[in-house]
Amino acid sequence: TWFDFNQAVEDCIQDLQHTTNRHILVMDFKDTGNIYSDKERIGQVITNLVSNAIKYSPQSNRIIISTERDDKMVTVCVEDFGIGIPDDKCGKVFEQFYRVSGSKQHTFPGLGLGLYISNEIIRREGGKMWVNSVEGKGSTFCFSLPVDISDTK
Ligand code: ATP
Ligand code: MG
Repeated sequence: TWFDFNQAVEDCIQDLQHTTNRHILVMDFKDTGNIYSDKERIGQVITNLVSNAIKYSPQSNRIIISTERDDKMVTVCVEDFGIGIPDDKCGKVFEQFYRVSGSKQHTFPGLGLGLYISNEIIRREGGKMWVNSVEGKGSTFCFSLPVDISDTK
């Protein structure tokens, strides 16, 4: 179905904001208009990324969610200032059951499936997902989805 992309992202963020007292979810939105995709599943992906950002940033409380649009794509990025991911592990986090193992003072519960499933959903909807991260500084997970050109906003 057609849906308002920013509105869908905002709905997910507001639901998640209620689950955490410590993290502030900051929205930095450009006009994205409507897209044609699976709203429920896209919502699951946003929820996964923001949940990870919350879980993997125990020492920081700021998470920035930004959106933008060009002629062909809408993009959303979730930036945290948490534990980050070592360079050589960034390529693996989308693999099934993969979890970064480190000797950090924190242990984080999880199965290693959230990103695998999220990446599959985005791929099937014709988009792509990627990550930029610096160990000890934070991570930015983004995905893009195609905008149907017949949608003139
Ligand atoms: P779950 O299946 O419950 O989501 P998970 O969070 O461990 O478990 P993924 O969401 O697939 O699994 O993430 C895979 C791994 O990537 C995580 O175990 C973690 O090591 C790393 N990771 C994911 N997101 C972040 C992040 N925002 N910051 C740092 N590491 C991350
Ligand atoms: Mg996860």
